[in-house]
Parts: sequence; structure tokens; C-alpha cells
Amino acid sequence: MIRSLRAAACAAAVALLAVPVAAQQFPSRPLTIVVPFAAGGPTDTVARSVAAAMEKPLGQPVVVENKPGAGGTLGADNVAKAAPDGYRLLVWHIGMSTSPALYRRLPFDPMKDYAHIGLINDVPMTLLVRNTLAVKDLGELVAWARANAGKATLANAGLGAASHLCGLLFQQAIQTEMITVPYKGTAPAITDLIGGQVDVLCDQTTNTTQQIRAGKVRAVALTAPARLSTLPDIPTAAEGGLKGFELGIWHALYAPKATPKPVVDKLVSALQAALANPDVQKRFAELGSVIYPVEQQTPEGLRKHLQAEIDKWGPVIKKAGVYAD
Ligand code: ASP
Repeated sequence: MIRSLRAAACAAAVALLAVPVAAQQFPSRPLTIVVPFAAGGPTDTVARSVAAAMEKPLGQPVVVENKPGAGGTLGADNVAKAAPDGYRLLVWHIGMSTSPALYRRLPFDPMKDYAHIGLINDVPMTLLVRNTLAVKDLGELVAWARANAGKATLANAGLGAASHLCGLLFQQAIQTEMITVPYKGTAPAITDLIGGQVDVLCDQTTNTTQQIRAGKVRAVALTAPARLSTLPDIPTAAEGGLKGFELGIWHALYAPKATPKPVVDKLVSALQAALANPDVQKRFAELGSVIYPVEQQTPEGLRKHLQAEIDKWGPVIKKAGVYAD
């Protein structure tokens, strides 16, 4: 009996010791960042830039894996339940804070089921229409949407997506319902908008800047308080007559909860190095995106922001009465 107790105690001690050793050697193989939307969209763009710039500080390849579905919650859940060794990470956006109110049975807790690594960047959205729609500005879009209530189509990336939230706020602001068409990400959604299969899409400038400049879609409003130097001709929603229709989409990096502290620390440093990289800064600025200050590229910075955003969006979404069972 005593011998088996001693053996169990030894095994426990060995297991305890094993964590710091693995953590010390971290990373000794390639890492994966899960993007919970289709490739080629705005979350994917953010994650790929960060992943590439984290490779040097980590000394390992960082691969992006697209795992779309259920507005981003599928990929987020996948990472929440992954081994807490730092090798499987998640880049997600504001959806982390809106999904608790949107999903009655969310399979993870945004505050408790992750090791929060840090905030990345903030990106405004643009309200776009297909080129073949005879709408020149926000006022005309509102009039057209009202005249076509119940017929006008609005693309999004599912319940929990930024495009969903933006569409929700837009419909609330103009008190008109549109038919929502969900996609696996806004990359396929914008392809259909360009093709004329859907009428309207609200999406981050990280995905829309080039398409607007190329004249493939028409932007009628920006969800930021001031115009962007990268898209100077696009008026803000307030300029177009819609007050309070402002929305910044923030992105952040997560690991599964119980990831050892030394591993988290290495990921935080690698994230900070990536966001200090001049190429990343240039690319983000060109796409109308602002990088968070280094103090917020931290676990505490992210946790504080996430909790504030959960508190902010919960009541808005509950009031809208939108949810998935
Ligand atoms: N950012 C998009 C959204 O949430 C989805 C995507 O990245 O494809 O609407």
C-alpha cells in the first residue's frame, strides 16, 4: 500500500516536472493559428500577417488553418478544447465578445476557457452595395432598403461574425429588416457581392479596401468616427445621416486555458515582436487598421478589453432579440 502510494507520488512529481521542461523548450515544432472563417477574408488577412511575423521570434513555422462555421464559434471551440501546449492558437475578432449573447448554448466561455495572449488591431467596417444596384450613397441605400423591406439581401459570415453585428446595427438604425444570407466568411460573401448575387455587405476594410479602389463594389459608408486616409472618398455613417452607427472590429490572439505561463510569456513576446515589425505595421496601415498599443498586446490588456466588450454588446444583442439555440 505504502509502496504504491509512493509510486503514485513519484509519478505525480514527474508529471509536474514535465510541464516546465516542455514549456522551456517551447516551441520545438511548428505552431498552428486557427482562423474561424474562410481563407482570403479579413480575419484571415490579419492572422496570416501576424503568423508570418511570429515565425522569426519563435524560430518555428506558424501555419494558418481555416476552420469556418457557426459565425466563428466552431473554430474558437476547437482551440478552447485543444491541448494546452501553445501549439494550437486562435485569432478571432469582436465575435468573442458578442457570441455569449448570441448563442444560448455556447460550448465555451470566452473569459474562462482561454489563455488570453493579447490584442492585435482594430479595423473599421464599410457598408457596401453591389455595383449594379442603383444606389449612390447611404441616404439612397436606406430609402431602397425600406422600399424593398423583406426582399433586399444582406450577406454576412454567420451569427457571431462582425458582418452580422454590423448588419444587425444597420437594420436597427434604419428600422428595416433585410434577408440575411450567411457565408463561411466574408471572402466568399464579397465574391457574391461582386457577382451581383447579394445586394449589401458590411465588412472590414482589411477585406474591402482593394475591392473598393478597383471599383468592384460601391462603398456608401464607413463605420468609423472619421474618414480614413486610405479611403478618403468614403463618408462616415454620421456624415451620411446615420448617427451612432460606429463599429470598430478588434482582433486578438488566444491559446487554450491551462497553457503554462512560460509558454504564454513566449507567445506574448512573439506577438509583440510581430506587431512591432515594420512590414506588418505598413500592411495594416494600408488596410485602414490600427495596431493596439504594446500595453494592450498582453493577457491583462486583452482580458480587460474582452470583459468590457462582453458587457457592452450583451444588452444590445439581447434587446435586438437575435440568438441561436
Ligand atoms: N471578418 C468577417 C466577419 O466577421 C469574417 C471573415 O473574416 O471572413 O464578418
